[in-house]
Amino acid sequence: MRIPDSKIEEIRNSSDIVDLVSAYVQLKKRGKNFFGICPFHQEKTPSFAVNEEKQIYHCFGCGAGGDVFKFLMEYKSISFIEAVQEMAEHLGIKIEYDQNISSEAQNEQETYYEINLQAAKYFSENLLKNLGGAYARDYLSGRNITDKTMRIFGIGFALPGWDNFVKFAKENNIDLNNAMTLGLIDKKDNGEFYDKFRNRIIFPIFSTNGRIIAFGGRILDDKEQAAKYLNSPESIIYYKKRSLYGLYHAKDEIRKLNKVILVEGYMDVIALFQGGVKNVVASSGTSLTEEQVQLLSRFSKNVVLLFDADAAGMKASLRSIELLLKQDFEVKIATLPKGEDPDSFINKHGRDEFEEQISKAENFLEYQTTQFKEAGLFDDPTKHAEAIREMVKSAALVVDELKRNLLIKTIAKKFGLREKLIESELIKYLNQVKNQQKKTDNVRGRKNGNGQLSATKENTQERDLIKLLFSGNRNIMEKIINFIQPDEFVNPIYKRLAEIIFDCYDHGIISPASIIEKIEDENLKRFTLGFAISEETISKRWDGFFMNGDSQINLTKYVDDILRKYKMQKIDEQIKIINKQIPETTNEAEVIELMKEIKELQLEKKVLLNDKQNENE
Ligand SMILES: [Zn+2]
Repeated sequence: MRIPDSKIEEIRNSSDIVDLVSAYVQLKKRGKNFFGICPFHQEKTPSFAVNEEKQIYHCFGCGAGGDVFKFLMEYKSISFIEAVQEMAEHLGIKIEYDQNISSEAQNEQETYYEINLQAAKYFSENLLKNLGGAYARDYLSGRNITDKTMRIFGIGFALPGWDNFVKFAKENNIDLNNAMTLGLIDKKDNGEFYDKFRNRIIFPIFSTNGRIIAFGGRILDDKEQAAKYLNSPESIIYYKKRSLYGLYHAKDEIRKLNKVILVEGYMDVIALFQGGVKNVVASSGTSLTEEQVQLLSRFSKNVVLLFDADAAGMKASLRSIELLLKQDFEVKIATLPKGEDPDSFINKHGRDEFEEQISKAENFLEYQTTQFKEAGLFDDPTKHAEAIREMVKSAALVVDELKRNLLIKTIAKKFGLREKLIESELIKYLNQVKNQQKKTDNVRGRKNGNGQLSATKENTQERDLIKLLFSGNRNIMEKIINFIQPDEFVNPIYKRLAEIIFDCYDHGIISPASIIEKIEDENLKRFTLGFAISEETISKRWDGFFMNGDSQINLTKYVDDILRKYKMQKIDEQIKIINKQIPETTNEAEVIELMKEIKELQLEKKVLLNDKQNENE
């Protein structure tokens, strides 16, 4: 079942984002945008912007953003199709479904979700009903996991043997190549398919919206000659760095308590949840990533890290602290008695004692102090300074200046040092970081043709053109699209955007919200949202057209003006290049050729100027 694209477009164009969002968020008009408190992350001052003209929203705090459908998906944790259906119902638009199942993108994702759902049901039946699953069931009950919890987290079991799932897939008309893409099966050299997950406990990994995007499989017997964990490969529905295990189950509680506990493994999340501690997620499979931190920030910026007390866990926590501080998180670290992990602890001591351990969590300075003390750094005067320097380094990561200064005061007080001394240490370090940053930026800029958006003249003009292409005005778009090619854009980001917009235009898509939804690269999408919604305008003159209800004729004249300037500048650049070549050319015929080229370019310039005069008459 599929909703035709034209219908989706119709629903999008009939809806009003300000109307929709105001049902959930209190909005106030400020400048061109409406602002409110972001529903996707914790904040006190509004940084959540909604733009009526472009029909998009964007949070300058957490980066959430998109169109009406995206808002519903994120806010209500529903799928794209469900969001479209809800919006249609609200608007009283009837949806006709497309009966022929095609393999277009919208469907491709749905197909994958569907296969994973079927697989998860199959694994779960194995565990709960199949005789062969008894052993696995015993294993889990041995770890105090109840049947109810197994159902809540969709825990399952992959039977021993090489083709159990393959058989199931064939019987249920699951496309085997799709199952292979999802990492459920693989193919031998002779073309025969076989199960990837064998004799393993299966943990489905859910998206924030509750869809199954991947699986983690754990062996039952640690002595077995196999990797302890086997995870699904990444696919168009699973991006490892951006998913957190347990977030779907924990998100409401995280929002409610405005606090999240970060642990290491699946079993920790599950055991704590069963024990009544439900605001827990795990970064399983990877060490914490920047993307995961960003995702988390939409739910709460107060995090308690709970890692194993071994050396590896300690190192991981220091790295995680750094990432979290950089994104303005309030970070605390809790430790459990040696030899305990969250799973074993809650089973042995229960919820109250666990909560008590959490309430004793230290802030990262206290934590570091304890670590350094235990390592004996404070007994040795030469190492003492080094330890303090390390702490200043951590404090330097705190983005909020006020908070940072408070930390400096704390460090000074703690070690009986003058505040000024610590402060100068901090400034020294901050400068060092800044210089380092500059250096890497320079290298990067030179190496890959400058991916950054510096404010050169070129970029300003290109930026204005892209802004005009996001105006949603067909005449303006047409003018620009007939005048230049995406290839002409120098800045790679604008060039990529131009390619996308041109392609949309060719398919009759002109509304900014729809164009932005076509951007697949998440970073580019986020950049574009911020860019399209920013208060920065093209010019006073441009704004005037809308304020004064100026005529379409004036508007197009203005666009002609911008395009002409852009072309003239390109011509000037070419002339400059050729002028440089002439003295270096020895062959007289070639020189004449180059002179001719200059003449032609100058003529072209004259034509452009004439056009302008004709228009003004
Ligand atoms: Zn936000």
